[in-house]
Amino acid sequence: MQEVEASIRKIIHIDMDAFYASVEQRDNPGLKNKPVIVGGKPNSRGVVSTCSYEARKYGIHSAMPSAQAYKLCPTAVFIPPEFEKYKYVSRQINEIFRGFTDLVEPLSLDEAFLDVTDNKLNIPSATVIAKSIRSMIFNETALTASAGVSFNKFLAKVASDINKPDGLTVITPKESEEFINKLPIQRFFGIGKVTFKKMKQLGIRNGYDLKMFSIKKLTELFGKNGIFYYNISRGRDERPVCVERRRKSYGREVTFPHDINSRSVVLKVISKLCDELVPLLQRNKVSARTVTLKIKYSDFKIVTRSTSFISYRKINKALLMVIAAKLIKEVKLEKSIRLAGISVSNIEDNCSEYFQPELELYDSQKQVL
Ligand SMILES: [Mg+2]
Repeated sequence: MQEVEASIRKIIHIDMDAFYASVEQRDNPGLKNKPVIVGGKPNSRGVVSTCSYEARKYGIHSAMPSAQAYKLCPTAVFIPPEFEKYKYVSRQINEIFRGFTDLVEPLSLDEAFLDVTDNKLNIPSATVIAKSIRSMIFNETALTASAGVSFNKFLAKVASDINKPDGLTVITPKESEEFINKLPIQRFFGIGKVTFKKMKQLGIRNGYDLKMFSIKKLTELFGKNGIFYYNISRGRDERPVCVERRRKSYGREVTFPHDINSRSVVLKVISKLCDELVPLLQRNKVSARTVTLKIKYSDFKIVTRSTSFISYRKINKALLMVIAAKLIKEVKLEKSIRLAGISVSNIEDNCSEYFQPELELYDSQKQVL
């Protein structure tokens, strides 16, 4: 087991602050210090994509319907997104990262993991690198980024969120146990809203509470994810920074011009969406294990229904339609529907299969760090 005790990795997570909104404020000085919302117009059926920190003070957040955001702050400035502009900045920051390492894993246009354990400039301190990156980003783009530095992806990601905006947080191996013990469960990267609710019901408020559950119990409660929760509550996350990161899912969805009330109409629309989705899957040689139907009701409540196969499968339209027809029957129709979508996930990908090493390894290595 001694080879497991590899040297401690140095991982940085960089996250631009209120990215789209900050770019707009930078490019239009009239928007500085104002609540700015990048996304759909308030009188449309669109949602908030990103909002400035001034807008967040009103309780506005990403994915909120624009109409609701308008109610909360009628003086907010609504701007349609200009992705070409954001992509340009994204390329700029990516160039900066690559000055230090090629082990860069972008999560979106404004976020990336970097593994700087061995870096091009032979700088021993990841904190020094993170500071340099933040100041280079500011000098080149006039935008601020927050950084998290730690010894794995989970902790680096959580860390970057701690002192947002314009912050830098370092979590050393020594500090990690106390940090995780106190970390509120809703701030855990990888624990979504649904799991958070379930954990809350179980009395799990923070990392310490989570750690009190045995791996057996967690697996009973959360399936395979239980192993992941067991490990992150102990600061263990062996996932590598994946340069060739494949997409996690492929999907298509559409908002209807008017809310609808019929399963057969939904199915017709799904069929059209599949005509767009299937060629995309074929081009990318996608094999997947899960198909998900997404429904958003007129009150914006979202429900999803999924089917998973035992092994990875090439997905064709006939298969998608059989599954969609089955899943739509499971959806209640007491309210009308404003959006429907279909996606495939659990994509075959060597990187995500590396998700967590074997259990035994961990159980015999209680004191690795
Ligand atoms: Mg961001």
